[in-house]
Amino acid sequence: MQLLASYLSGSWSAGSGPKLALVNPSTEAVIAQAHAGGHDLAGAFGHARAAGARELGQLTFAQRGALLAGLAKAIHGAREELIALAVANGGNTRGDAKFDIDGGAATLSHYAELGGKLGKARLIGDGEPIQVGRTARMGGQHVWVRRRGVAVHINAFNFPSWGLCEKLACALLAGMPVIAKPATATALVAHRVVELFADLLPPGALQLLVGPAGTLLDHLGPGDVVAFTGGSATARMLRTHPAIVAHGVRLNIEADSLNAAVLAPDVAVTGEAGALFIADVVRDMTQKTGQKCTAIRRVLVPADRLAEVADAMRDRLARITVGDPAHPGVGMGPLATAQQRDDVRAGIARLAAATEAIHGGTGEVAPAGVAGGKGYFVGPVVRATQSPMTCAPLNEHEIFGPVTTLGAYDGEPGFAAELVARGDGCLVSSAYSDDRDWVAEFVAAAAPWAGRLYLGSSKMAAQSPGPGTALPSLLHGGPGRAGGGEELGGERGLHLYMQRCALEGDASVLKSLLGE
Ligand code: NAP
Repeated sequence: MQLLASYLSGSWSAGSGPKLALVNPSTEAVIAQAHAGGHDLAGAFGHARAAGARELGQLTFAQRGALLAGLAKAIHGAREELIALAVANGGNTRGDAKFDIDGGAATLSHYAELGGKLGKARLIGDGEPIQVGRTARMGGQHVWVRRRGVAVHINAFNFPSWGLCEKLACALLAGMPVIAKPATATALVAHRVVELFADLLPPGALQLLVGPAGTLLDHLGPGDVVAFTGGSATARMLRTHPAIVAHGVRLNIEADSLNAAVLAPDVAVTGEAGALFIADVVRDMTQKTGQKCTAIRRVLVPADRLAEVADAMRDRLARITVGDPAHPGVGMGPLATAQQRDDVRAGIARLAAATEAIHGGTGEVAPAGVAGGKGYFVGPVVRATQSPMTCAPLNEHEIFGPVTTLGAYDGEPGFAAELVARGDGCLVSSAYSDDRDWVAEFVAAAAPWAGRLYLGSSKMAAQSPGPGTALPSLLHGGPGRAGGGEELGGERGLHLYMQRCALEGDASVLKSLLGE
């Protein structure tokens, strides 16, 4: 049995105390263990603050970018091994695993390239020079400079590779050392990724804690950053953590999200934009068994089109085999943990009391390739309501699984935007329309409630990655329920790990500081 070690203060240590089990969610077999504690976390912070910060500070953006390129290459080199781990520990299909693993490598490569562009700069300019004196001689200039502290990265169970890499890419490029803490249940992939990375980075640049956070956050200080992805209950606890409050620690939260997809009245279900809409909704329900923070949970359809959309979805979903992803032909695996399965079932029960069944009942399924009733399986479930705006279980509870609900509406962009807002802030929402006036009205009203708006149409259908894919070049995060955080977005992703400072003085000195 593999005992997962943590990588702290430059060496691998297993910790001590009670052991936690990591299981295969298809078979419930225990495949690895990790100790629940017994690590020198104060020592780890000391190592990051001394060695990690010093080593990264000596490198230019271009050199740090080159390190990221090396990490992306290491993932590519171990791709098959990582995919096998994701299938076994995450219940991922091969496609799900590639989404996580290739997504991680692609994000590292994106930031490697950005590092090359930033070159030897020590400061990044923010906006244009400003005249603050009587003449142009006295100027002002905002700049970004790397923070002197430790970036603590706490990740959710669903993207053990991508989650680790997207946060790591931004922090390392900005020049901050990282202590990463993956979710325990699916830590096998993150653990292997850090094994691959450890010798490719300077001492102290990356450390890994496997197992519960324990006293990790107690060691935070004023220059530090916490980037968290996970549930809103954990996020609430972090917001009031004494060390975070006492030291004004910068905290970025990516949490729950009730993402919506809207079919506009001008779109025929059988046309190009309509086909994109159906494909995106079905993909988001089933990819990673619906365990994507960006997955579509609420679907608005013009009332006279609801039956047609329901038929198209039934048709697509009926062709997907649920079961052990190690079994040939399986298109959707189990949920990642027993807790996840219980939470999803409770969510479906709440939703079922307020909606009508369209597909999949309440998720009962006979999984392929699974013996003896094992595994955390829930089949794809589609529900429907004629009153989406007043359906509380739809708008107030994220079901983190293969579940979506169709809501009938009158086709008005204002109503659609109001439904987006009813989710109290989301990571992404989407609208499918070729009517530019409809889109303009929807965007103006919905954008304040979403970190990203995906605008599906006939013209972009052939090249679309779908709303569920977070891209390194675009912001990932959202207001309100989604946590209020921002990650990625190209250079913007570095800002979490940098301090903005307003410089004031001789305009020619300010110019020279930016290397101009
Ligand atoms: P979770 O239970 O909140 O756990 C997230 C992470 O927080 C895990 O690493 C967990 O560690 C850690 N954690 C738990 N208690 C902690 C504490 N007291 N101090 C410090 N860390 C602590 O969430 P999850 O079940 O893994 O993920 C599902 C949720 O994440 C869903 O609600 C989903 O919406 C959200 N999510 C959001 C995004 C996004 O980008 N917005 C992406 C993915 C998922 P252990 O595993 O060791 O308990």
